[in-house]
Amino acid sequence: MSTNSSEFERARKVLVGGVNSAVRAFRAVGGTPRFIDRAEGAYMWDVEGKRYIDYLGSWGPMIAGHSHPHVLAAVERAARRGLSFGAPNVMESELAERICALFPQVERVRFTSSGTEAAMSALRLARGFTRRDSIVKFEGCYHGTADSLLVKAGSGALAFGTPSSAGVPDDLARHTLVAQYNDLASVEALFAAHPGRIACVIVEPMPGNMNLILPEPGFLAGLRALCTKHGALLIFDEVMSGFRVALGGAQQLVDVVPDLSAFGKVIGGGMPVGAIGGPAAIMEMMAPLGPVYQAGTLSGNPIAMAAGLATMDLIAEPGFFERLGAGCARLVEGLNAAAREAGVAFCARHRGGLAGLYMLATPPASFAQVQAQDVERFRRFYHLMLDEGVYLPPSPVEAFFFSGAHTDADVDATIAAARRALRALA
Ligand SMILES: *Cc1c(COP(=O)(O)O)cnc(C)c1O
Repeated sequence: MSTNSSEFERARKVLVGGVNSAVRAFRAVGGTPRFIDRAEGAYMWDVEGKRYIDYLGSWGPMIAGHSHPHVLAAVERAARRGLSFGAPNVMESELAERICALFPQVERVRFTSSGTEAAMSALRLARGFTRRDSIVKFEGCYHGTADSLLVKAGSGALAFGTPSSAGVPDDLARHTLVAQYNDLASVEALFAAHPGRIACVIVEPMPGNMNLILPEPGFLAGLRALCTKHGALLIFDEVMSGFRVALGGAQQLVDVVPDLSAFGKVIGGGMPVGAIGGPAAIMEMMAPLGPVYQAGTLSGNPIAMAAGLATMDLIAEPGFFERLGAGCARLVEGLNAAAREAGVAFCARHRGGLAGLYMLATPPASFAQVQAQDVERFRRFYHLMLDEGVYLPPSPVEAFFFSGAHTDADVDATIAAARRALRALA
């Protein structure tokens, strides 16, 4: 019989660490990763037949729930017409039109096959457009695995970045300058130290990769002003927050307009997708119109476009985000009440369908505070919840994901499970 352990043992013989994306290996929480057999609505079932209420949502895309009939029908219809053409398809225009309609400054879109590619291509575009080499990123923000973005702060606040992964050349990493999120002064200092050399500032406007962190009032507007003043482009990486914290992404909530936006996850409805969007004057620097090269065999793939369009149909329905936000708020309030009852340093919060839970008495405002969590405690909480049939992202530095398929009963069951888990931790 197939079990999670037997499948993990098998996988480790042929896949590096048994997985195809590092964080799936459960290294941060220990134990055996669950091998998922199928998923429907708010649930996933592992190969042992155990059911989980799913708050991973494939790390964000499954905002309408798994295997939604409307999405499956669109994918089936598209699949019957061919899996990939390598030539234009009208669904690419349709999905781009929807994105342009939601983001007023987005006049042109380029689809890619992943968020990594979108962020990587946005950087190249910003560098090509400004004819500058340096970029600014924030400690704790994640933009996929492009070399220039796998960089952490060097020693000393104004030092050049150093690789956060082996295999990234120092010569490249030194073009990445690392600032602190919610600390405008750290960005000002970099602009002052590197005049005329910074091509762009790339930021998750509402970070979900150092758990959920909210921008402090004025922070993103301050970045906007600094970029404008110094002739650098502001790139909002909304691969996670886009179409999730609100239909128009974090930029709609904070009312700050970036030059370029990166999208992914939700816009593919569970199929591999990424996108860059921005004004024609910048976007048309890209090939075939401009000198910045960008291409992809499966970019704008018809199945991915169909899944994305069908997902957009669902989340653009009147009331979708109100219901999503209300359901997620109920969950967060229940978790906070459970923590108070148990007397445990634990809290949760959300924006739209993006949520964070923290082994902290109050929600964090910085990466340093996120890192101050008691990791051992999170591990115990994580496995207690998993045993209860609640699947959370397996790391204390990740946000969690609510979907339109989660019912009040699912929320109540999750709160009851958390109440028991937190009591066991007290
Ligand atoms: C997931 C993510 C990416 C990378 O997207 P992939 O599709 O995994 O390559 C980039 N930026 C942010 C903010 C993300 O959350």
